[in-house]
Parts: sequence; C-alpha cells; structure tokens
Amino acid sequence: SDMNKEQVLKAVRDNNVKFIRLWFTDILGMLKSFAISPAELELAMEEGMGFDGSSIQGFARIDESDMVAMPDPNTFAILPWRPADKGAVARMFTDVLNPDLTPYVGDPRYVLKRQLKKAADKGYTMYVGPELEFFYFKNSEGTEVLDRGGYFDLTPLDVASDLRRDTIFALESMGIKVEYSHHEVAPSQHEIDLRYQESLKMADAAMTYRLTVKEIAMKHGYYASFMPKPIFGENGSGMHTHQSLFKDGRNVFFDGSDKYNLSAAGKSYIAGLLKHAPEFCSIIAQWINSYKRLVPGYEAPVYVAWARRNRSALVRVPMYKPGKEMATRCELRCPDPACNPYLSFAVQLAAGLKGIEENYVLPEPVEEDIFEMSKKELAEHGITSLPSTLGEAIAITEKSAFVKEVLGDHVFEKFIENKKAEWDAFRLHVTDFELERYLPIL
Ligand code: GLU
Ligand code: MG
Ligand code: MG
Repeated sequence: SDMNKEQVLKAVRDNNVKFIRLWFTDILGMLKSFAISPAELELAMEEGMGFDGSSIQGFARIDESDMVAMPDPNTFAILPWRPADKGAVARMFTDVLNPDLTPYVGDPRYVLKRQLKKAADKGYTMYVGPELEFFYFKNSEGTEVLDRGGYFDLTPLDVASDLRRDTIFALESMGIKVEYSHHEVAPSQHEIDLRYQESLKMADAAMTYRLTVKEIAMKHGYYASFMPKPIFGENGSGMHTHQSLFKDGRNVFFDGSDKYNLSAAGKSYIAGLLKHAPEFCSIIAQWINSYKRLVPGYEAPVYVAWARRNRSALVRVPMYKPGKEMATRCELRCPDPACNPYLSFAVQLAAGLKGIEENYVLPEPVEEDIFEMSKKELAEHGITSLPSTLGEAIAITEKSAFVKEVLGDHVFEKFIENKKAEWDAFRLHVTDFELERYLPIL
C-alpha cells in the first residue's frame, strides 16, 4: 500500500475515517499508539505530531521528553476489527523524531533503517519471511487450550480454523500477504506465515500481525499469546526468520554451481549469523521465558551450527525448491515471536553483512541430530551453544562491541539496563519448582 500524502487524505475521506492511530514501538517491541482526528492529519504528515515520550520504555529521560511522531504514509491501513458504520479507524506507523525533526536514536524503527541504509549503500535489499507461532488459550489467566491437535492436523469442529481464517482476512485487508497457515505441533498452537517482504515492511507487518492475532482471538472470546514457552513439556513458539539479500534483481545468496547452491556471499552471511548469534541472542530471545524454549527436544535450536534439513540446527538452508534462485535463503531458528522485530532484523542483517565484509568462513553443515551428540562429538565438530538463560545472554551482549554498534549507544544501554533489572527480579523470586522440590525434603 505505497501511498503519498494526498492518497492518504483521500482514503481518509472516502472511508469515513474518524480516528487515525499513530503507531510506534518501544525498545522491547511493545506497540504504542495515540489517536488523532482527521482534521489534524495533513499537518501531522508535514510537521509530525508532538508527544511526551518520558514514560515510553527505553525512550528519553524526563528532562528531554518532547518527541515528534512523523506518520509514514506508506503504512496507512484501515483497522478491520474496528466498526466501519460509525466511522472507521486507521493506523499509520510513525518515525519518532527529535523536536528538530532529526531521527530519535531511541526509536527501534530507526535502528533498523540505519542498518538497511548500510546494506543499501552496498546495493543490497534485505528480504524477510518470518514464521510467527502462537497459542490460543481460553483466557489470559491460564493455559487452558482450545484443541488437542498436532502438526498440520485438521481438527473437526475446530474453533481455531475460524480464528485463523478471520485473522488472515484481516491481515490481507491491511495489505499483508499471507502464504499459508496451519496447526502447529503443540495443542492449540498455530502458525500463519507471511509472504516474504522487504525488511522494514516486514517488521511493521510483524507488529501488525501480533495485534491482529490478539484482536481476532478477543473478538471470539479467546486469548492469543506469543509467549515463547507457555506450556512445560510442549513445543514453544518460535519466529524462524527466513532471509536473503537481493542486488540488481538477483539473489545475492544464490550460486547454481555450488553444491549447496550458495554463493560465497551467502556462505559468509550465514557464517556471520552463526558467529554473532550468542552476542545478539538477548535481542532475538529477550525474555526469561525465551530460554525455556531454547532447550533440546522441542525443535528449537540450542547449538550453533547450520544444516539443510536438520531442525536442531541454528541456521537452516531450506531445500524445498533446490536450485531456485528466488527461493534461496537461510532460516535463523532462534528468534521468538515476543522479540522486537525491528531490533531483531537489524542485528541479523548486521551480522550477515559483517560476515560478507570480513569474508567469514562457513563450516561444513551438520546433518546429524545435534541433540544426540555427546560432549566429545560436539567439540569435534566445533559446535558451541547459545546462552542458556537471559542472565547469560545479557552478560554476553553487554560485552559485544558489535551489538552496541548496531543498536547505538542509547538503545544498547537502555536495553541492557532493562534486562538486567528483569533478571535480578527473577533471581530473587522463589519459584513453585523450588517449593515443590525442596520443602518436603529440606
Ligand atoms: N515450535 C518450534 C520452535 O520453537 C518450531 C517448529 C517448526 O519447525 O516449525 O522453534
Ligand atoms: Mg512452525
Ligand atoms: Mg521454519
């Protein structure tokens, strides 16, 4: 829906839009919004709308809290779950700016834009196809499931089929293309896959996706959750991120003469993802609960290796259409759908670009099941692991000059500060696990 200012104003009139919600994202990936009336919109698109950013997570301190939200006309869409008869509600993503209209360093969308500019300077466009998984629950108070289906199950009288269908219609009405959808492995777990798209558009789409899934579930009286590991003993929810670079209409990762169909640049890009994954793990898996998902045995990665088929690997090069240039891509499997998609895509792109710039060497793929390997075998293959807790992940990120450069000093410091506080709160907490395990015997 690429639109200019005039087209947006016309769409507002034609659709009887009464409110325009201006959207932006805090550093943890939470959607923030305020609404303006149509009368304000023209000026807002020219000069931006001022707001007080002092209470936004990761934004400014009290003494420098005046911010400006500048709507991006390309992102205008009518919210399909709002009533149209009494006047429609639309949304626009905004760029957060300083009062002098320069980009605000705390805006995650700007962090991604800065990285995309680096790529564009080399002629690269990044395409992303994320697979966001989620659960439907009866309500937000617990994890009571709606169905007992499994992978690709077509469960009869399945309320989730209706939920998924309505969600897809809603996404499509907002110009977000859906590739396919299915029941996932765990009970009440689902996945709706978006058609790959340019990275910034996809980060916006991922934000819209999460809200849409939740809104449609709520309309039906249910609760949708992107919590990475809501149920012990079942698969968690991932956000596998398929990615590729294009230059002059060609897929940079593709080389038909290579045994893996991967170009030298493609291999170095993947090597970059592998090398920097432990450093950026706290960004793409940012919650204490994220690390309950990244454990052996649930199709989520633990070890730093790549493969073509192996689903225990961190990076997979899918083989659906071998040799097809357009489809050549890699899939990073550690991100979860509760990440900040802007920061997540930014660190992934930066790691890949660094790999290309510095000619990182890609090791051989590991097709054996890595979860079955002994410590000795892991060492022989040179396979290391991802951090196993948020505390560990943050300690690694904190030492990373690479992540600091990608996020910029402001976001980096705010993020680390926020996550350390979360980890400390968890450390002090006495869990059910401890009470059940220790109280009877100690
Ligand atoms: N749910 C799994 C995860 O946590 C992935 C399952 C799949 O391969 O789609 O990443
Ligand atoms: Mg899946
Ligand atoms: Mg996948």
